Amino acid sequence: MTLPLPEGCAECGWPRHGHYQRWTMNAGWHAYAPPNTDLIQARMRARSSAKEGSADAGVGAEDR
Ligand SMILES: [Zn+2]
Repeated sequence: MTLPLPEGCAECGWPRHGHYQRWTMNAGWHAYAPPNTDLIQARMRARSSAKEGSADAGVGAEDR
């Protein structure tokens, strides 16, 4: 599993370079969409947490 780049597409996380038109389950066919600041920061947190080996990064919706 790879984490999306912080600056990657808001829909799929693919970097702007080489994005063109892509298809995803959520967005269907779409062009690169710049992520907003909240999304960039959330991705940066997820990446730094993953680097530290923390298990609780980005999880929280699994509580049932
Ligand atoms: Zn995309």
